[in-house]
This record gives sequence, structure tokens and C-alpha cells, in this order.
Amino acid sequence: GVKGDKFEFQSDNKKVLDIVINSVYKSKEIFLRELVSNAADALDKIRFQSLTKPDILGDQPDLDIRIVADKERKLLVITDTGIGMNADELKKNLGTIARSGTSEFVSLLENKNADLNMIGQFGVGFYSVFLVCDRVTVASKSNDSPHQMIWESTSENDFTIGVDPRGDTLKRGTEITLHIKDEALEFLEETRLGGLIQKYSEFITFPIYLWTSKAESYDIENDVDSENISVTVNEDGVEDVPLSTTDADTEEPKKTETRTVHSWERMNQNKPIWARKPLDLVTDDYNEFYKSFSKDSSDPMAYTHFSAEGDNEFKSILFIPKTAPPNFLQKLDLNVKNIKLFVRRIFITDETELLPRWLSFITGLVDSDDLPLNVSRETLQKHHLLKTIKSKLIAKAIEMIRTIANDETKSAEFFKQYGTAVKLGVVEDKKNKEKLSKIIRFHSSFSDDGLTTLVDYKKRMKSKQPQIYYVTGTNLDELRNSPVVEVPIARGYEVLYLVDPIDEYLLQSLILFDGTPLQSLSKAGLAYGDEDKDQESKLTAQFSGLSEWLKSTLSEYIDTVTVSTRLAKSPTAVIANKNGLSGNMEKIMNAQAL
Ligand code: ADP
Ligand code: MG
Repeated sequence: GVKGDKFEFQSDNKKVLDIVINSVYKSKEIFLRELVSNAADALDKIRFQSLTKPDILGDQPDLDIRIVADKERKLLVITDTGIGMNADELKKNLGTIARSGTSEFVSLLENKNADLNMIGQFGVGFYSVFLVCDRVTVASKSNDSPHQMIWESTSENDFTIGVDPRGDTLKRGTEITLHIKDEALEFLEETRLGGLIQKYSEFITFPIYLWTSKAESYDIENDVDSENISVTVNEDGVEDVPLSTTDADTEEPKKTETRTVHSWERMNQNKPIWARKPLDLVTDDYNEFYKSFSKDSSDPMAYTHFSAEGDNEFKSILFIPKTAPPNFLQKLDLNVKNIKLFVRRIFITDETELLPRWLSFITGLVDSDDLPLNVSRETLQKHHLLKTIKSKLIAKAIEMIRTIANDETKSAEFFKQYGTAVKLGVVEDKKNKEKLSKIIRFHSSFSDDGLTTLVDYKKRMKSKQPQIYYVTGTNLDELRNSPVVEVPIARGYEVLYLVDPIDEYLLQSLILFDGTPLQSLSKAGLAYGDEDKDQESKLTAQFSGLSEWLKSTLSEYIDTVTVSTRLAKSPTAVIANKNGLSGNMEKIMNAQAL
């Protein structure tokens, strides 16, 4: 064990650790993804600092990740030259700080509504190491710590922090040593390990190396007598020795022996996916990238990959997740970390608002060629080029939404997940209001199951029909059977059933669609365009006595009484006046006032 100070894990962290340690979860390999992702984050941080302060890299200018498996000692060691942690950071980051989301994760796990694969999304990915080891040691050296520190834990209860007895073996960065459990020894096998590293490192922009061994046979006589051996030098400057040769004169095999040669093998490709040509990529490439990028375990519902040319060049990939992030529309602060900003492939921040709230369900990245690198994050966030990037991203996102809305196989699911968001776009995005109002959908008397657009509604309108008719409420069946829809439906008019809570807000900004007013069936102002005015005034005169009586008797509750032709079976209906709140809106407002 390590000599030093002992600390208890924070209580939610303890619970996660307890679950991980006792888990029979099969996909234990996810620990490697979490460690690689942490190493890459740490490298991103030091690289970002070095943009404005190049000295910070000091005598450790290389930014990389190196992995070594030691089968004899059952150790797996992952080292990065990232930002490192001082004693206080080791204590807080790996033990005592409660992360927002962790307690939620615990209850999701306990109720079997989440599995450990999602651990990275909840800010506790590091603890997944306990799927494969019973002891983990973290040595770390940050620029501001006088000594290399060591953190160690063997259980869900506590951990120890002390000065590393080996001295400063790292110039800067973090070395994580896993003491692999017997049932997880497969992760020390080179092929298994190499395959996993390849999988998890493909989208990491720093080089990742694995210490590999190769059996190489060589001709023992070669060292003594090399007359039959031709030695060539290949492009890398490595000597290419033919592995086995036969003596042309005697046909007798040469005597050879095997030796093990170790080397660092680079496991990831250099070029990030967004810098590659879309034509060279297939859907699977994007799906894999999305999963590693977003930590989501499902493929995305849709993606778009594009580049902008001219004096503001950038590349971008945007994704629509398969399911909507929980409560994303309620999140008023936009630091939702959904769009990552890179400048010339260097990760800068995920806290810049690059998409408006209504599009906050979209995740992805932007890599700019023209933003400056050597300025502070604050200066960058105010840069004028960001404005153009933003509006281009919005345009591309809308294009993606429009495509999916027109795709019969995908649109129903899209509107189920994101229909409300697009309606919010109509309310909040003045510039794109018109475009978006053509995309949004509603339930309708025209079809029992599908949704309809206002565009299609208009196509089906009767020739003299002056308005688009709707009713609002919370329950679809109730609306279908409400007295106010009887007449229009009986007379062959289509009625929209607005049951989405946001619809009430939507209607306040969507008064007209393509020149046609939207008219509530339960508000004054309804017109069919084929009313028999004479008949109406005749009836009004006929029932004036009843009307007067109703009005005076109910004066406390109503404004006026009108004889109308809007009802078929029911004798009367209570409706709101033209500019008043609908009954449903009153309900919503009352609910919010609580
Ligand atoms: P997350 O990565 O979501 O923050 P983790 O549990 O994976 O959650 O890691 C917790 C924290 O520990 C990280 O936020 C980071 O501050 C710190 N950390 C983990 N690994 C490293 C590392 N290799 N280098 C520097 N800091 C690290
Ligand atoms: Mg992590």
C-alpha cells in the first residue's frame, strides 16, 4: 500500500463503486474507453493552455497516450502526458467531489433503467476500472505540484494519497496502474487489448501507442556469415531482414532462431473523421464516431457532415440522437455541452452557445480553420466569425430536420422525440419561423393515427374555407368528442387537435399560416365562409328572448350569448372570447403558477 493520508469516498461515489465492484456486468472492456477518454481530456487541457503559453509544455512537449500490459505482474499501465493532477485534484476528482448526475445514475442503476455502459455520461467513468481490477494506483504530476503524487484505492470505502516513493518518474501527466483481477486477464493479451485500443482510440486526436512484442525469427548464421543474406532498408529506415532463407546451393534450411522484439505501435489513425471526405466514409463510420463522441450507446437518428468554404472555412458534423436528452427544453442555461468547438483540430471548448435552445437536442462539432488559436476562450467566444458559423449550423440543422421530416420511415419517431422542439423553434427563432411552421405537425380529424402539417391541411381546405380550425386540450379523445368539433366535421371540415402543451404558446406567435388565420373552434370569430346570413339573423331574432334570459341569469360568468350554427348535437357550448385565454391555456397557466 501507499504511505500517505487516507480519505473516504463521497457517498454517491461510494454507491457507484459498490455497484461496479460487485457487478457481473459482461462488457468489462468499457473501462479502457473511460481511461482513454480521460487521458485525451487531460491532453486537451494542457494543449489548450499551451496555445497562449507555449512554455507550459516545458521539457515534455510530446502529447500522447502510452499503454503497456505486463502479464507477469498482471498489470495494465496507461500513461498520458496531459495536464496531470496535484494532491488536491487527485483527492477531489477521483474521490470526494459529488458530480451532478451521479445520484441519478445510482437510482437508474438500482432500478435497472441504466447499465454500466452509460457510466461515462454521469461523470464517474473512472470508477469503471473496478470492473477489471481490485487495486488501482494513479501517479500524477502536474505543473503546479512540487512532487509526483500517488493515489491508491482497493475498495469502495477509501483511498490513500501520498508522495510517490519512486520520485518524479513522470515529467508531466498521469500514469494509471491497474492490478488486473484473475477473471479479467484477457485484457493483458496483446490482440484483445490492441483491438480494444484501436476501437476506442480511433477518434482521439492524440497518438495512442501500445507496447507490443513481435516474435521475429532470424538467421543465427547471419551474424557470422552474411554472404547469402540481402539486407534492405525500407521507407521507415528500418532494416528489412528476410525472415527465413534457404541456401540456394545446398537446399538445406538455414538455422534460424526466434527473438522477441518490442516496440511502440501507434494504434490510431491520424486524421479525425470530420477532416476526411464524406465520400470516403460510410454510415457505420459516423455511427461509431457518434457513439465514442457522445457516449451514447445507440446509433444516432440522423447526421450531417459538411464544410463551409470561403473566408470562414470550417467543417462540421451534426447528429440527432435516437432519443431526446431528458428535459433538454427546460435547460435554460445553454452550457449543455452539445457542440464541441475545435480550431484547426485542437479542441477548444464545448461551452460556447453554437445552437439556440430549440436545437439543443443536436450534438456534434465544428472545426474552424480561420478562428485564432492564441487567444483566450473568452475572446474567441466573442469572435465575429462565430456568428456566421452559428447561422450556418442552424441552416444545416434545419435542412437535416426537413429531410428527416420527409422521410416516411423516420418522421413519426422524429416528431415523437423532437416535435415540441421544432414548435419551440417557431416561437423563438424569428428568422426561421416560416420555414419551421411548414415542418411542425399536429393530430387531425383527417387521420386517426398520423400527424399532419399545415401545408397538407391547406391543400385539403374547402374552396371558400377562410380559416384553419383547431381545438386545444390535453386529451386527444376528449377533443375528438368535444361538442365544438361536431359541426365542422359533420360539414366536412378538417379540425386540428392540439394536445402538445407548447401548442398554446405556439398559437400566440403563429396567428397566420401562409396567409390563412388559425381559428380556435372554442373562441369567437369562427367563420366557415358559407354561412347563411339570413338564416342566422332569423334565428337570432327568434331566440332573442332566450338569449337575454340566459345572459342576465348567468351574468356573473359570461360576457354574451350568441345564436350560432356551430353546434350539431349539443344545444349549447361555452366558448372563450376572441382574445381571451382558452380553457386549456388557463389550465396550463394555473399549473405553472403553482
Ligand atoms: P469525467 O471524465 O466525466 O469527468 P471521470 O470519472 O472519468 O469523470 O474522471 C473524473 C475526473 O478525474 C476528471 O474530470 C478529471 O478531472 C480527473 N481525471 C481522470 N483521469 C485523468 C487523467 N488521466 N489526467 C488528469 N485528470 C484526470
Ligand atoms: Mg471520464
